[in-house]
Amino acid sequence: MGRTNSRDQELRTRAEAVIPGGMYGHQATGLLPDDYPQFFERGEGAHIWDVDGRRYLDLMCAYGPNLFGYANPQIDAAFVRQLGLGDTLTGPTALMVELAEAFVAMVSHADWAMFCKNGTDATTMALTTARAHTRRKIVVRAKGAYHGAAPWCVPRPTGTIDTDRAHQIFYDYNEVASLEAAVAQAGDDLACVFAAPFKHDAFIDQAEPDPAYARRARELCDATGALLVVDDVRAGLRLARDCSWSRIGVQPDLSTWGKCIANGHGLSALLGNDKARKAAASIFVTGSFWYQAAPMAAALETLGLVRDTDYLERITALGERLRSGLDERASAAGFSLRQTGPVTMPLFLFDDDPDLRKGFCFSSEMLDRGVYVHPWHNMFLCAAMTDADIEAFLDAAEGALGALKRQSPTLQPVPKLAFLTAGGTR
Ligand code: PMP
Repeated sequence: MGRTNSRDQELRTRAEAVIPGGMYGHQATGLLPDDYPQFFERGEGAHIWDVDGRRYLDLMCAYGPNLFGYANPQIDAAFVRQLGLGDTLTGPTALMVELAEAFVAMVSHADWAMFCKNGTDATTMALTTARAHTRRKIVVRAKGAYHGAAPWCVPRPTGTIDTDRAHQIFYDYNEVASLEAAVAQAGDDLACVFAAPFKHDAFIDQAEPDPAYARRARELCDATGALLVVDDVRAGLRLARDCSWSRIGVQPDLSTWGKCIANGHGLSALLGNDKARKAAASIFVTGSFWYQAAPMAAALETLGLVRDTDYLERITALGERLRSGLDERASAAGFSLRQTGPVTMPLFLFDDDPDLRKGFCFSSEMLDRGVYVHPWHNMFLCAAMTDADIEAFLDAAEGALGALKRQSPTLQPVPKLAFLTAGGTR
């Protein structure tokens, strides 16, 4: 398609001069179809507008933070009210205590909470807490799982050194024998086991946690004195009004939260049980903006909506409708589509599409029809979505599948995705 002469293109050109590489991180559109916008103007409810004025139903929800709708009036009013009173002050406000109380009341395993800014802060604090608690070094974690962008866990290690990632042993998610072997290899130096609430790695099918694996992780931590960490940064509040593993009856010692806990305002959290309290109190963790009061006001409103509304049941029903509707339309168009993961965090990948050329074409066609989907990362539903939005999604999907069918015979490999089939990494 191409976006020559667009405002997006103009901003990209200017960014090249003043931002290294023009853009960085997860939303650098380098690994998205060429017609995807890089820059956005605004968001409202379930929709975003790019800088060229195009409106999209947004299935990414800012990669998770949008749970109750962009610019949610109730949450943002609390945020703005607190901004008027004071945000970054010499110390925290009473909201910090109220918010910790709200989390402790909501999350079964939690006896305490500490607040920070990004998910990476929370996961790094979890690791430090576990090492302080056990006075041991090794973290056992799942291969391919994302836990943030700090040197110990960043997926592309350019600029880090081997010792940043020392003392880590990897297992295959959901594989009990592999987990047991990793724990055995850690021996008497195991500090913690990290687990995502479900397998939500990029580029591949998602997988629900096998309860036998989750229970075994709990047992192994109990037997060795290590701490069990569930990284709920991405999935938190989209699967349960509690830690996501509460659904399978397994309670971690520590859980990490971020993204949607303040509906898009900058806040993350580490929650823990009494076992880990002393260690958490002993580590030095802080940041100039960590006590900001306005995001905490937003988080209190968000947790209120979590507690008092049927948002979870609604987004689950919408997600089920999206999944079955898309299945119907895909098979009617003669495509075999794998939809995996929880319905509130969908991912769809086409069969026989190892280099994602079909996925890229489908995503572009969806974009063209006003729906922003992601070709290889899980997506997110939000409570601002309506039945009409799901219908709009399905109508767009029908058109996009038709267009894909017409283009399929002549689709070419996407050069920037060559690493997928070359066996390398990006
Ligand atoms: N853990 C998980 C499971 C995540 O998905 C992410 C972010 N995608 C993080 C940690 C890091 O969070 P942040 O980007 O806020 O640092």
